[in-house]
Amino acid sequence: MSLKEIMISSLLILNGQVILGDPPQVQQQDILVTNGQIAAIGKNLTYNPSVTNILDATNKIVSPGFIQTHIHLCQTLFRGVADDLALLDWLKLRIWPLEAAHDPDSISAAAQLAVAEMIKGGTTAALTMETVHHTAAVLHTVAASGFRATIGKCMMDKGEDVPSGLQETTDSSLAAALNLHAEWPSNHPLVRVCFAPRFAVSCTTDLLREVAQLAPQQSMLVHTHASENRDEIALVAQTTGQRNVCYLDSLGLTGPHLALAHCVHVDAQEQQILARTQTQVLHCPSSNLKLGSGIAPIQEMLQAGVAISLGADGAACNNNLDIFTEMRLAALLQKARHGADALPAATVFRCATLGGAQALGLAHELGTIAVGKRADLVIINLQQLHCTPAPDPITTLVYAARSSDVETVIIEGQIVMQERQLLTLDEHQVRANAQQQWQKLCRRAGF
Ligand SMILES: [Zn+2]
Repeated sequence: MSLKEIMISSLLILNGQVILGDPPQVQQQDILVTNGQIAAIGKNLTYNPSVTNILDATNKIVSPGFIQTHIHLCQTLFRGVADDLALLDWLKLRIWPLEAAHDPDSISAAAQLAVAEMIKGGTTAALTMETVHHTAAVLHTVAASGFRATIGKCMMDKGEDVPSGLQETTDSSLAAALNLHAEWPSNHPLVRVCFAPRFAVSCTTDLLREVAQLAPQQSMLVHTHASENRDEIALVAQTTGQRNVCYLDSLGLTGPHLALAHCVHVDAQEQQILARTQTQVLHCPSSNLKLGSGIAPIQEMLQAGVAISLGADGAACNNNLDIFTEMRLAALLQKARHGADALPAATVFRCATLGGAQALGLAHELGTIAVGKRADLVIINLQQLHCTPAPDPITTLVYAARSSDVETVIIEGQIVMQERQLLTLDEHQVRANAQQQWQKLCRRAGF
């Protein structure tokens, strides 16, 4: 079925247990969606004559769509081939050679696989960093899948042991990012382009300075990694004489439009910079544990006023793209450090919804269910053994629910999954194509 065929002008969700507001409260309501937007929330919306599709959400949760703010769509084909390595070896021995071997077909297969997995788990939007080349193919694939994403071409104009296929000059890197932005203007309903310098180790000071200057002029986000791993921090200190976040701040990069993945090892001064500049911290608990990077000081950063959202990172270091896993783990890790009352469920839920919308610069459009916002909605069935009873839906979602409890997903008013059937992607075909493209990619990479 094509995307066009399943487009609907108006949709009514009946009798759901709707999660409203911030902090979240659950109320039984109907929701009317028109032209991709939440048009009304209330009771007895049944008789609106414009409704062309009705979903019965009786005894089900209707949640704002989950937003993952640090994802590498292009790495989804690398699931299971880069295990048990620390960051710098993981990059040099596995990820960079594999990224360099991508072609438009393999990167599209990776993006489809990622989008299918995320939709099935209730994620409706993501902030993603791709590789140096073929990002146009990712943008087309994501838009055709009906998924919402802000996508960046990875920028790398320096570094040791970088395969020739990923090497670029400062000028060619900037030109490629700006060209993509020109082709996909910010008013596209689903996809946008951001700057995505890989991390300070892979980028010259000139490149980062240019990005710092261009981003506000072009109204583009900047998505990068920072302070993930102690060896990375030592490399940055060696070349710049500064702590990672202090260095980025000195270049004028910090601000609400800067999205920094990880921030595992940030000292008190760096936390103050992040809070003062309202820089977005993208917390990836599974990835941080699996790469042996450490546990980010999320509780301290929240107390300091730092904006936090959540992401799975890539399938090559997680190995899933599952927001339910990340929510639960984020909460549990801070409890181990600070006690059971640290990072309560409602705070984690906020990080995975409104916090994500803020990181995307789209809090006025996404992140909560409210009239006038875009209709990115998830219907979840908590009538499961592992969720029963569920006196508090928010704590049940964070601590007990699984991604497989998500039944129906709506993005920009379009139903992209209904009763666990994907409607914009063919699940069987996505898996078969991923398998085939992975084998071809391996041959090209010499793995
Ligand atoms: Zn990453």
